[in-house]
Amino acid sequence: MRVLALLTAALVALAPRAWAHSALPDLGSASDTELSPQMERRLGESIVRDMRRDPQFIDDPEVSEYLGSLGARLTEVMTGARQDFEFFGVRDASINAFALPGGFVGVHTGLLNAADSESELASVLAHEIGHVTQRHIARMLGQQKQMQIPVLAALAAAILLGRSRPDLAAGASAAAQAGAVSAQLAYSRDFERDADRVGLQALAAAGYDPRAMAAFFEKMQRSQRVSDDGTLPGYLRTHPVTTERIADAQNKVAGLPYKQHLDSPEFHLVRAKLRSEAGDAQDTVAYFERSVREGRYANEAAARYGLVSALLRARRAPAAEAEMTRLRATGVSGPMLDTLEARVRQALNDQAGAEKLLAQARARYPYSRSLLYAHVGALQDASRHDQAIGALNEAVRASPGDPRLRALQSRSYAALGKRLLQHQAQGEYYALQGSLPAAIEQLQLARSAGDGDFYQLSVVDARLKELRGQYSAESKR
Ligand SMILES: [Zn+2]
Repeated sequence: MRVLALLTAALVALAPRAWAHSALPDLGSASDTELSPQMERRLGESIVRDMRRDPQFIDDPEVSEYLGSLGARLTEVMTGARQDFEFFGVRDASINAFALPGGFVGVHTGLLNAADSESELASVLAHEIGHVTQRHIARMLGQQKQMQIPVLAALAAAILLGRSRPDLAAGASAAAQAGAVSAQLAYSRDFERDADRVGLQALAAAGYDPRAMAAFFEKMQRSQRVSDDGTLPGYLRTHPVTTERIADAQNKVAGLPYKQHLDSPEFHLVRAKLRSEAGDAQDTVAYFERSVREGRYANEAAARYGLVSALLRARRAPAAEAEMTRLRATGVSGPMLDTLEARVRQALNDQAGAEKLLAQARARYPYSRSLLYAHVGALQDASRHDQAIGALNEAVRASPGDPRLRALQSRSYAALGKRLLQHQAQGEYYALQGSLPAAIEQLQLARSAGDGDFYQLSVVDARLKELRGQYSAESKR
């Protein structure tokens, strides 16, 4: 009954607003019992598109970059792992992580806080990635192919996200349809064992401490006992932790030599960043001031990072500058410290200093995406849009699938009064978000902008034709 209630709530929450205007195909009538990887990806994209509108979705490139690098270490050593996993944070205090169809993995802030080491966090992610690489989700959903994508996506979200949305009620026409199949849509004991097995292998191969998996399971089981009011933490609802699972995880590592894994600075910095952005600004300043004063922290640099970030939120720029000096004195370095220091400079109205600092940091860390975004933002704030466009065009060539780059491009073109290019970039942004009607509208605006040359207009025309074809094919299916 709880599953049904959860499903109903989630369907109500997700189905009507998310897909009312997006023409998505149903799943066709292929005869195999698995979803195709393409269909899985589409399904995952449609769920993530909806989640992005949720204020709980953490649209923070530094958080995503950190989770992505942790995830990449694991997928690199897993056979059958696709290259295009995407990781993102969700502001939710419950201890949970979830894999969506198509390799999208969400991580709750509750999990980030509950993990006592990076290896513990990695053990949960490795398990989730295991569900994807072992095609568990494709197999679970493959039996429901006759359902239309919106219903299926709502169903998948309800099961995989492991959280209900009681805040939204009424009008669930699809609930009965979904309820009928809900029993088949849970990770089975076999799937859990399988995900643990490949997760544990990846953990060890990627250099994390494989003992962390059993340790974290035990911690979860303890929390299961404590909250005995019928509300299980999300993760336990979707991946029940049993004594058997704990024993399995312990036995498999019993013979391995002890291997210490040192947490990366970013593990601590990301947690401090998220902590510094939650709750009342003054309270948060007080919290980090106390940690720093009393030395009550797991990592000094992270505590000081949290204090600088909280002081910026409280609009106390001079205090943030002083604390930034103490943070630098810890000897910890990295892109996250550079972007923080740039934010301090910006708060002190030193735009030129911020830009210079970020330009130097980008030379040190050329692959950091969050540094690139920050640097482009600083160039835009200084009205140096030609330079921003230069950096963006180069980045788009390297990563054409990054929607944030297109949005930034559009902003600079708009400031420069280049209307065709502005709408073209905005159109590509929508196309990458999977919103074809909005993309087509922008390209039409680009065509009628009146400031394009013959070559630019033919590029827009060709792209418009392509997108219209794609849209009509999807509407017909
Ligand atoms: Zn699981």
